[in-house]
Amino acid sequence: EKERTMQSEKLSTAGQLAAGIAHEIRNPLTAINGFMKLLRSSKDKSDQYITIIESELKRIEFIVNELLVLSKPQRNHTSTPLNVISLLDQVIILMNGQASLRNIQILTQYPDKQFVIIMGVANQLKQVFINLLKNALEAMNHGGTIHVYLQIKDNEVQISVQDQGYGMTEDQIKALGEPFYTTKDTGTGLGFMITQNIIHNHGGVITVDSIPEQGTTFTVSLPQIVIADRADL
Ligand code: ADP
Ligand code: MG
Repeated sequence: EKERTMQSEKLSTAGQLAAGIAHEIRNPLTAINGFMKLLRSSKDKSDQYITIIESELKRIEFIVNELLVLSKPQRNHTSTPLNVISLLDQVIILMNGQASLRNIQILTQYPDKQFVIIMGVANQLKQVFINLLKNALEAMNHGGTIHVYLQIKDNEVQISVQDQGYGMTEDQIKALGEPFYTTKDTGTGLGFMITQNIIHNHGGVITVDSIPEQGTTFTVSLPQIVIADRADL
């Protein structure tokens, strides 16, 4: 009985997702169609129309790319021991350019160790922290600092990404993770769903704390691997 309930829940989630995707892709397609027609009738504004068509095509490409990431956990899930410290550093190097353009600095606070090991799929976990840092950057319109904390608690590795952005209301927190829920003009509302998916596939959890106008902290908890004869690392 329980199994069946879970099965039907899965189907309705897939159906919901499909409906959302259809809707999200139909909007730019409708726009492209319309501007193609205009392009035929008035050549003098062609530059303007082509620019719009290109940006709508980019939007479709963006949505499809995010969906491909979502489908990856099934295709490629080679889990290996990973040092979270170097993984975070790699992601931060990647995001520093975007951060400094927005007058934002990313500061880290790690435990006094060189290695903190977890089992995971490196590219997926990188995607998680890219998504979290991207949302943090996008929430901070006036510059500031993003703190990335790494802590070990009861055999769990906890990574927090704390921003000083516009924060979220209770209702916005509830809507998080619904496919295509976005408050941004150019958002897809897929990033957090993907993040959550990857964390759950890694046996972890993600929690959120947010105060409107003050900021948001996302905390990812993952099981730590303690390699017996290297426990001193
Ligand atoms: P997108 O970034 O494309 O909008 P996400 O799934 O990444 O989609 O995020 C969904 C929504 O959750 C965002 O549009 C925003 O409203 C909210 N959100 C996520 N992270 C933050 C954050 N750090 N601060 C404030 N709001 C956030
Ligand atoms: Mg996002």
